[in-house]
Amino acid sequence: MTSLACRSCAAPLTRSFVDLGRTPLANSYVPPHAAAMPDPTFPLHARVCDACLLVQVEAVTPPETIFGEYAYFSSYSSSWVAHARRFAEMAARRFGLTSASQVVEVASNDGYLLRHFVAAGIPSLGIEPAANVAEAARALGIPVEVRFFGRAAADDLVASGRAADLLVANNVLAHVPDLNDFVAGLARALKPAGVLSVEFPHLLNLIREVQFDTIYHEHYCYFSLLAVEAVFERHGLRVFDVETLPTHGGSLRVLACRIDGAKRPAEPGLAAVRAAERAAGLDRVEAYSGFQAKVDAVRRSLLAFLHQARAEGRSVIAYGAAAKGNTLLNHCGIGTDLIDYVVDLNPHKQGRLLPGSRLPVHAPDRIAITRPDYVLILPWNIADEIVASMAHVRDWGGRFVVAIPSTRVIG
Ligand code: ZN
Repeated sequence: MTSLACRSCAAPLTRSFVDLGRTPLANSYVPPHAAAMPDPTFPLHARVCDACLLVQVEAVTPPETIFGEYAYFSSYSSSWVAHARRFAEMAARRFGLTSASQVVEVASNDGYLLRHFVAAGIPSLGIEPAANVAEAARALGIPVEVRFFGRAAADDLVASGRAADLLVANNVLAHVPDLNDFVAGLARALKPAGVLSVEFPHLLNLIREVQFDTIYHEHYCYFSLLAVEAVFERHGLRVFDVETLPTHGGSLRVLACRIDGAKRPAEPGLAAVRAAERAAGLDRVEAYSGFQAKVDAVRRSLLAFLHQARAEGRSVIAYGAAAKGNTLLNHCGIGTDLIDYVVDLNPHKQGRLLPGSRLPVHAPDRIAITRPDYVLILPWNIADEIVASMAHVRDWGGRFVVAIPSTRVIG
């Protein structure tokens, strides 16, 4: 095996966090004409850096393979859209954004966030590598440049007079193959008094709630505040506030500024999250061991439930063809022998097969036709939303199930 280096600090990467074996890429949905072809599989092994404590997986494919036609459209989740609107309103108020300001969002997806700034008359620009989702944003009247973000893109922004008063990079930091180039770009794209807002799933919750299904090849890094502060500081950025959010099973929203820019005082949230991480031992590498055993327990619990359902002649289907579902199904070795099919609202996924497990993806109205006994909700982070929208499942006695942090019937 070739020796691996930390994406953040370049120290040798030798300590295992969790080894999930070989799995297909989580977002490589299989079109019907390719059903007879085997899925290429790649090692999915998360390691933790002894030096900066960043949890990370190695890159197995070039980012163009992953992001060329990224199938995830942010606007398909209604709770996510509401979260974006609240953020836009808060940021415009707190940072005094006006028609003379510039908002830039990296990985602007389908415009789920920038649409709110545009509606408020605040000049906005999206930078998005996936052409198909960028097109959806443009259709809403949002200017978008289709490109990867890093030092070069940041320098072009500044040169064209569009350095950011507010620079947003939500749920993208974890997906960046060259972390240092990306963070250096964030620092360069900010005006001296500008504010950077970054959201990412919090490693603290991943460990506590055994959210191992959030680990997949396209998700390179799993951040604590501690690890983020280390990489930010190396590139001239200082965190001055942090807030915990319920999104993605527990996220952090980190606000940062340039070390050489405006003197913003550290807010109380910063000390609180640092203390929570220290209390959980995230500042000591020993706290990261033992995660593999917790993952094995989740796997056993789900398989036992599914085998029992089959033995009792009960039908099980899954809801939500998201990346995390693919990690869960493939790590557990689940296929159509245990789950009949999966439903998803996204028409781009319907008619395809999930990679690895090969569950066929249908529209949600199929559930009312086959009337399954159990609906396994794969995106547990929006389980409440799904249960509310699928309440008619109870009409025939159907029940909802989640598998993380352990398998249980939730309604
Ligand atoms: Zn490191």
